Amino acid sequence: MLAGQPIIILRDNVDVTSGREAQHSNIMACKAIASAVRTTLGPRGMDKMLVSPSGDVVITNDGATILHEISVEHPAAKMMISVAEAQDDEVGDGTTTSCILIGELMEEANRLLAKGIHPTIIAKGYVLAMEKALEILNENAIVSKGEDRDLLVKVSNTAVTGKSIEMMRDIISAIVVDAVLAVAEKDAEENYIVDEDDVRIKTVIGDSLEDAELLKGFMIDKTRCDEGMPKKISNAKIALLSQPLEIKKTETKAKIKITTSEQMEAFSDSEKEKLKEIAEKIVASGANVVLCQKGIADAVQYHLSHAGILAIQDVPEKDMKAFSRALHGTIVNSVNDLEESVLGNAENVEEMKDIKATKFTGCKRGKIVTILLKGSNQIYVDELERAAYDAARVVMDALEDGKYVVGAAAIDTELNLGLHSYAATIGGRIQLAIEAFANIFEAIPNTLAENSGLDPIDTVVDLKSAHANGEKYAGINVFTGKVQNMYDEGVIEPMRVKRQAIQSATETAALLIRVDDMMIAKSSH
Ligand code: ADP
Ligand code: MG
Repeated sequence: MLAGQPIIILRDNVDVTSGREAQHSNIMACKAIASAVRTTLGPRGMDKMLVSPSGDVVITNDGATILHEISVEHPAAKMMISVAEAQDDEVGDGTTTSCILIGELMEEANRLLAKGIHPTIIAKGYVLAMEKALEILNENAIVSKGEDRDLLVKVSNTAVTGKSIEMMRDIISAIVVDAVLAVAEKDAEENYIVDEDDVRIKTVIGDSLEDAELLKGFMIDKTRCDEGMPKKISNAKIALLSQPLEIKKTETKAKIKITTSEQMEAFSDSEKEKLKEIAEKIVASGANVVLCQKGIADAVQYHLSHAGILAIQDVPEKDMKAFSRALHGTIVNSVNDLEESVLGNAENVEEMKDIKATKFTGCKRGKIVTILLKGSNQIYVDELERAAYDAARVVMDALEDGKYVVGAAAIDTELNLGLHSYAATIGGRIQLAIEAFANIFEAIPNTLAENSGLDPIDTVVDLKSAHANGEKYAGINVFTGKVQNMYDEGVIEPMRVKRQAIQSATETAALLIRVDDMMIAKSSH
């Protein structure tokens, strides 16, 4: 009936790529991203220098940072970058690994497609293999529930090894483990839980030597809003306010700094009264410190200052929440809601000497710590901060799960061999997909070897034969070039990092493989 009549379902500003071409395009994009980051894998990986359009320079070998900074066009590449970002958000490590795994899964899929295996079979085989991989991972996990300080330090060291700030490794690891243990809590089943926001990291640039310290409390990058206010308050009772401390419609045009009582005359009487009332209500509540998320009118500052109250304005909302938890106070909208019971408590609130910040220590709830990192230049402290952040995340992962795996390609080799034996029990076309999945884990030892100047083929052969002999912790010592027991060498990682990388890589690859049409709408301008 409709013969000869083309049915138009897409607007003409849509680019369509179909069939094998679409698959090929996605595969190539994923391989390109994987090869962009693979040279950074492992402690002997190289760094990348990234320059933003505005000329800012970042030097890093952190997969997440690299992917975050480079801008890509291809939709599959964009998906991969969001996988890496999710990996970073969820577990804080393993971004390079997840990208390499996706790249390998896509390359293996390419081979299978060329053999005429249907994408649905490949995707199904991948998902089946992933489930088995997670099982193998679990079976190989070293279980240690509780405060295993030694193991946690090793986890932190492994995360930090190879970063340009490695000379700070021992210092950072010790502080990070102390920090995480200080804020960890136990749930009803005696499992540890850690709230990521309770470990804060602050960097300071100064002439002082490279240094790090742990502050049992938190700090705000701001100081008292008026010079007349005290610099230090002991036994602090802290009012937390989310609304500005001012009168909505002010008649005074110019913002004047009020320092003398005469200047107060500039205000109309009724305004003066209202502003004074705000300050009086704060005083009446018993507060001696004010944290305000918005601005504080000068007249209010004047009165607070006279009452000996330390006030800080424009505290970011996210911080207000974390601080209210730590101080055990309630954030209120208005000074009318202030009373003793909503105030937070800290033993000391004090302006810091060498930096523009105020520190809060001896907080009521106690469960907040700040890792203070000092260095002499921005690029250095930034990398230091990323390292401490990654280390804190992996230590949290490990403490919460109590499950560890041996890195340096030891666990990857177990996965490779275990999945191959599993594939042999399956048969049919799906077996080929499972074998392909098993192969991807060779990419980790391969890449670690390559990045360390070792021969990848010889190394992988040695590694596999060690594992076939039951040495399940055998891995690549990238510093000596030998295959040896890497548990003894302390290369330990949280199981969660591997699990997340395997899961998200599989899900993404399975999704992309089934795509046979790409319809890209061009922007209308
Ligand atoms: P990712 O972004 O995936 O975390 P990394 O560059 O941090 O990438 O490298 C992680 C890999 O390096 C893991 O496979 C880990 O087991 C390995 N690795 C870490 N430390 C060592 C070490 N000392 N010797 C050998 N391999 C190591
Ligand atoms: Mg890492």
